[in-house]
Amino acid sequence: MRLTTRIKRSKQIIRLVRPFELTSSDLIYPVFIREDGKRFEIPSMKEQRYYSLKDCGEVCSKVINAGIPAVMIFGLIKRKDADGSVALQKSSFHVKIFKKLKKEFGDNLVLMSNVCLCDYTVSGSCVYMEKGKVLNEKTAEMLGKIAVVHAAAGADVVAPAAMADGQIRHMRSALDKAGFEDVPIMSYIKTDSCLFQPFFKAVSSSKTPRKGIDSSKFRTDIINQKMFMAKVDLDISEGSDIIIVKPALANLDLILLTKQRYPNIPIAAYQVSGEYVMIKAPSESGYLNEHALLMETLNSIKRAGADMILTYHALEAAELLKEKR
Ligand SMILES: [Zn+2]
Repeated sequence: MRLTTRIKRSKQIIRLVRPFELTSSDLIYPVFIREDGKRFEIPSMKEQRYYSLKDCGEVCSKVINAGIPAVMIFGLIKRKDADGSVALQKSSFHVKIFKKLKKEFGDNLVLMSNVCLCDYTVSGSCVYMEKGKVLNEKTAEMLGKIAVVHAAAGADVVAPAAMADGQIRHMRSALDKAGFEDVPIMSYIKTDSCLFQPFFKAVSSSKTPRKGIDSSKFRTDIINQKMFMAKVDLDISEGSDIIIVKPALANLDLILLTKQRYPNIPIAAYQVSGEYVMIKAPSESGYLNEHALLMETLNSIKRAGADMILTYHALEAAELLKEKR
């Protein structure tokens, strides 16, 4: 008789028959660096911290020592402007960050750059809009210019987050023209989700971040997998090298669909701020164990088809994976 219990006889057999194993090589740690130099715990994301330019090397050393290959850099600048042109300044804060980290760590750490207008515009909008309409070309052109600034400063991978149509095409052509043909583009594809809220609070000084911005105009409808896949098709046709599915847990099927349609394109999943909060909160009540919940969610994301996972829990997860050995 066929028994399914035979391959569950011991913990070692269970390990042996696993089709994949999550490792620290799969993880990417998002790092928030403030231009004003203030260092404190991020109120909306307990136990995550803001770093300064001076001390951001310390957390990057921790990342490398944990066996994590990459960081996603979020720079919080002091003075934003109306159209985000501050992003193109030769001595911008982001330029300083990438130059410093590249000098310090060389190729031992992959520096990923989040490229979006919201990092630079007073309104906090990811795209240029006019009368409620997304200005795709104008946004895409600007993102291309920002990507070149970051690549020139030392960013290894550029990650456009605005979701403007044409952004990958513009970015690829701008990078190629500037001599950065070997810099990969990792494009975020985000469903319109409430799970980004703790992040918005973390990157905004306003009490009601992104008020009046209708993100449903540039993100994809979370209910509609076809809308999501059409955006995946577009980004890959424009030259995207890696796709980021964001958020992760609410979109496990979209990770799988993307992997099935593009088996040769690396897929990343972003376990976002809201997921971080969701994992932390129940463990505080004592009803759930944070670490068990963390590993269960990370493994489910990996099982769905993600080759890499951006997570605020990256350092803890790497530690847990080490202990398991
Ligand atoms: Zn943005």
